[in-house]
Amino acid sequence: MKSSDEDGKAPRHGSKKSARSSHHSDDVPKNPLHALFLNELADIYNAEQQLIKALPKMVEAAQSDELREAFEAHLEETESQMVRLDELATNLGETLKSKRCKAMEGLLQEAKDLMDEQEDKPSLDAALIAAAQKVEHYEIATYGTLAAWARQMELEEAVELLEESLEEEKSANDALTSLAENQSNVMAETED
Ligand code: ZN
Ligand code: FE
Ligand code: FE
Ligand code: FE
Repeated sequence: MKSSDEDGKAPRHGSKKSARSSHHSDDVPKNPLHALFLNELADIYNAEQQLIKALPKMVEAAQSDELREAFEAHLEETESQMVRLDELATNLGETLKSKRCKAMEGLLQEAKDLMDEQEDKPSLDAALIAAAQKVEHYEIATYGTLAAWARQMELEEAVELLEESLEEEKSANDALTSLAENQSNVMAETED
């Protein structure tokens, strides 16, 4: 592994790193940010795919009608987010490679463990919301980064599509916060 101080944080625009020290001289020059962008697009594409498989289980597990409906609504949004990513890639003339999002895998594994552990307890919905909000925050971070990179590269159409999904993720997260505070966290204190 490389030491991290070498790469550090991505330089903000303005602080140009020295000219490209190209080790692929006969290739078409590729903007490294563009390659990073495609890589992260493939990651979130796979993350959304995993979520589409997991959300129906969370719908089934949810105790309250409100939480069930929130998960169902977000499942629909998640499907349209995948369509948006397809559209974005097509617009760029790119095919997204397949990449396993290990972060989403881990988050969904934790969600599954919580569901097993909390089964039949009044605290199940609070646990489901906690797990779902971790997922939303991961997606918010990813779409926020992708939109910033697209803006940096002046890919205006991509910025628009990514920001649409970003706003959906934020709204989904806010809806879960309200549900937790108004209902699930209160329920969770009920004695068995
Ligand atoms: Zn991911
Ligand atoms: Fe999503
Ligand atoms: Fe990932
Ligand atoms: Fe989401």
